[in-house]
Parts: sequence; structure tokens; C-alpha cells
Amino acid sequence: MNQITTLLEPDTQQDQLLPLDTEKIRQDFPILQRRVRGKQLVYLDNAASTQKCVQTIAAIRKAYEQEYANVHRGVHTLSQIATEAFEGARKKAQYFLNAASEKEIIFVRGATEGINLVASSFVRPRVSEGDEILITHMEHHSNIVPWQMLCQEKGTKLVVVPINDEGEMIAEDFDRLLGPNTKFVSVGHISNALGSINPVKDIIRKCHSLGVPVMVDGAQAAPHLAVDVQDLDSDFYTFSGHKVYGPTGIGILHGKAEHLESMPPYQGGGDMISSVSFSGTTYNEIPYKFEAGTPNIAGTIGLGASLDYISEIGLDRIAAHEKEVLDYGTEALSQIPGLQFIGTAREKAGVLSFIIKDIHPNDIGTILDQEGIAIRTGQHCAEPVMDRFGVHSTARASLGLYNTKEEIDALVRGLETVLRIFA
Ligand code: PMP
Repeated sequence: MNQITTLLEPDTQQDQLLPLDTEKIRQDFPILQRRVRGKQLVYLDNAASTQKCVQTIAAIRKAYEQEYANVHRGVHTLSQIATEAFEGARKKAQYFLNAASEKEIIFVRGATEGINLVASSFVRPRVSEGDEILITHMEHHSNIVPWQMLCQEKGTKLVVVPINDEGEMIAEDFDRLLGPNTKFVSVGHISNALGSINPVKDIIRKCHSLGVPVMVDGAQAAPHLAVDVQDLDSDFYTFSGHKVYGPTGIGILHGKAEHLESMPPYQGGGDMISSVSFSGTTYNEIPYKFEAGTPNIAGTIGLGASLDYISEIGLDRIAAHEKEVLDYGTEALSQIPGLQFIGTAREKAGVLSFIIKDIHPNDIGTILDQEGIAIRTGQHCAEPVMDRFGVHSTARASLGLYNTKEEIDALVRGLETVLRIFA
């Protein structure tokens, strides 16, 4: 575990809901000190990717400078040290998700690969013509396209649960559309475009009462709220390292062991086999069966450090902090004349998606950039959400654990500049 106990006062370390000391936390993220276009950086693009803390950077550096060799296969010391660090990250991910076993933790490139793996290895053999796969209207493209591809191949129907004007999944429609033909459900835990938090535990309970397995796309949830896959009872849960203050090119897929055991490999190659001959190949045990080829060794170790970092701070404290900044931001931005929020769900994480009159979101983003403020503009890989709200794109400010109310004030000043320019 990384030493970040300095973030907490010694006599209060047990209190999970102590406010975050953002000033200290910000010192862990060197990039937040930099200036952009001569202004102090205000980084509000966390839903796209998060910044990296020194603990993660140090872990990656150490992996390359002192502990680097290929993993699993070597008898030499360095390979054993690297393997220990690499497998240590699996343990950290198990702890992070409260998974029943480290065998249920598969290293993937990110949430996108996690979903594709499940579509390909779990769902493909289980569906045929007339069957249905259920998703919602608020999904990221990564939780739409793999299912579309599979449906096209198998003649299966993709059924989409509508969302209301607030950007919430309509529960009655979900109940109506979940039927005897539903063979699989894949749902986002939190929408990246709207911030809506889906009632995934409820969804899973309903699906399981009909024997339907559920995948949760946790790309936007893992950094923002405590996830317990045993409590959720999810069949599969996936998230990306780069959204939990970790490296790109690495992510986690959790799957129940019984499912993983029953699934064919996703890709063939080294490491996923136990023996190969031209008359036949036997596959390695889980989780290695799903990890073909040399993995992202240093990235995995870096992800382990990031998971330690946020686990030690506490996801409940992070969630409470982000909610406070979100509420402050919602109130502050609602004072901007002509600003309309896209996504006003009652259960919402730190996403402020909005449009202002007929000002193009790209213009908003470009003007804010002049002030050192980084937000995202566009469709956020969620074109169907944009269509649902009748907009081309939105401006989106998205929060992370290091964001402050002062940064929201800076955003408001930036938006006032936008209004002045377009007056
Ligand atoms: N799902 C959601 C909800 C996301 O926000 C994202 C990333 N924006 C993804 C899936 C895909 O994640 P990645 O690109 O890291 O694989």
C-alpha cells in the first residue's frame, strides 16, 4: 500500500467521512500546478480522463527503473519481483471491488475491451435469432457498438430502455422491456454524458429473478463511488485505469468465477495456455485464460498504486466531496443567463453537461481554454444521448477528487466571458 496517510490527521484516520483536504491532495498531482495559456490550470475534464498522482507515477517509474522483466515465465529474480508486483495489483483490484477471489479479476486494456470480451466470450455463444440484449439509451458507444455487432452477427435484437427528460432510465419501461426473450443486460453505472447514476443493484436483482445475467459498465463509477461487486451481485463489472487516476491501456474486468470458467478464451497466444501442441491446446486457468500475450506490466502496477491511493482516501469521502462541489456548481451555473443543463437526474455524479443559448459548445470550450480551464465539448461518445435531447453536442465540466469550489468560481467567470463575447 502507498503511504498517503499524510492526507489524514493521525487521530481522525478512522473517520471515513471527514472532508477531503483538497489542498494536500492537489499537491499529489503535479500537473495541477502548471499553467495553461498563462493561467492557472483548472482541470474539469475528468470524465474523459483523470490526472495522475505522484504515487502512481513513482510506481511506474520504479517498475521500469528497478523491477522490470517479463512476468510469469521467468525463474530469474527480476522476473519474480515483477510478477509479484504485477499480481499484487490484481489483489488490490480484488480489494477495490470487494471481489470474492483474485481469480475473478482480469486485466484488460480498459472498459471498452472488458465489454467486448464479455460480448465475444460470454454472450455470443448464448444468443441466437429472436433473443434480446437490453441496454439503456444513456450508454457510452463502448456499451452500444459491441452489442450491435453481436446482434448483427447472430440476428439478436438490441432493445433500448428509454430515458426521461432528466436523463434517468425509466424504471417502468425497464420492467416492461425485460422479458422472456432477454438473454443479457448491459448497463452503465454512471452516464458519462449526463452524470445519471443508474440503480444497478435494483436492475441486477430484477434481472436475476428472471435468470438474466448483467454486465455493469463502471467506467464512470469506479472513480466516484464505492463499488462492491458481491453486494451488487453483478455478473460482470468493468472499468478503465485512466479514469481512476491510473495509466491508460489498462483496466479491470471482474467476472463471477463460474461464468469465467464456462467461457472460451477471448484471444489466443502466450500466457493464456497451459500446453500447446499441433494436435490441440489446453488453456490456462482463470484469470490467465483471458490474458493472452505480454501484458501492460508497468501500467498494471501503476493502476494498483492508483487503486491504493483512492481506497486509502476512501470512496465514500470522495463521493461526498464531489457531491458538494457538484451541488455548488449546479447552483452557480444555473445563475448563468441562458444556460440549460442536459442531465438533471436526482441521483447524479460529478458531471455538469450544458448548453448556453445557441453558442456552439466548441466556442465555449475554446474561450474557456484561453482562461486555462479544460472542459470537454462534443458528443462525449454518446450520440444517442445527444439525439434524445435534440442537441448536437454539449459543454461538459466533470469533476474529480481534487476539484474545488474555487475552480467552479473560475468556470463561472469563464462562462461570463463567453457571454460577453457573444453578447
Ligand atoms: N463507458 C463509459 C461510461 C465511459 O465514460 C467510457 C470512457 N469515456 C467508456 C465506457 C470507455 O472507456 P475506455 O475508452 O477507457 O475503454
